Amino acid sequence: MATEARRKGGAASFFCCLLFSFLFYSVTPWLPASVAPWPNSSLAAGSGRWNGRQAAIALTYDDALASQLDIAIPQLDAAGLKGTFFLTGRQVAYRVADWRSAAQKGHELGNHTVNHPCARASYDMPQQYASESYSVEVMLAEIRTMNGLLEALDGKSAHSLATPCEQTLAGGQDYLAPLQKAALASYIRDDLALPPSVKYTPFSDTTGDDMIKWVEGVRQAGTAGIIMLHGVGGDYLTVSREAHQQLVTYLKAHDQEIWTATFSDVMKVAAR
Ligand SMILES: [Zn+2]
Repeated sequence: MATEARRKGGAASFFCCLLFSFLFYSVTPWLPASVAPWPNSSLAAGSGRWNGRQAAIALTYDDALASQLDIAIPQLDAAGLKGTFFLTGRQVAYRVADWRSAAQKGHELGNHTVNHPCARASYDMPQQYASESYSVEVMLAEIRTMNGLLEALDGKSAHSLATPCEQTLAGGQDYLAPLQKAALASYIRDDLALPPSVKYTPFSDTTGDDMIKWVEGVRQAGTAGIIMLHGVGGDYLTVSREAHQQLVTYLKAHDQEIWTATFSDVMKVAAR
């Protein structure tokens, strides 16, 4: 199951990057531990592993999209839930004050690099931004730069990271191990870095009912679920405003059984 979810993640990432490259390089090219599943899903609140709950959900949003600021965050705020937003540096410039405000409200800002480099082998993008043109050293330097930008927004010295396109190659070399060794990310959202017990899936064009069904599976397994989202009611790889609201409402209504928290907070427990 996890493998299938991971495969779906790879497919979504592929389309994400197709769209990303279209939007950012064609339209606006020069912008600046393994723990056994909890056996009993009917545990009372307060007795579970996940901050006293049976399961945990982290809502993560990629690419610093306007619809996340304009639709997703207001819905989360109204429910008192916190999300994680993996920002690309080149996109932050449009809404600096709004991202700072999101951090002040308790949402997590994460690192999604500056230029979102991905493999040109899988889709067309300008050569200079393709990960084939990078080296491991340049990739780590870009991630370090993005950490600085994030610290300027939220005042935090450590951040989690989501790999662009679920790919970890730079100039043909895998940068995951050097990234971990350099300690540039608190936790890494990538198929290859997440604990096997953690469930991970992308959602796009998914109904509220189907997202809730997935969350319910995570709850019954007594584990953590990481959800990857992009556009909410707009942009690309979109889930509708209504579907997102339905998911948020469900999570709020079940907050005695399901701990909805930021990616880093969930990973702190998952990595134990
Ligand atoms: Zn992305």
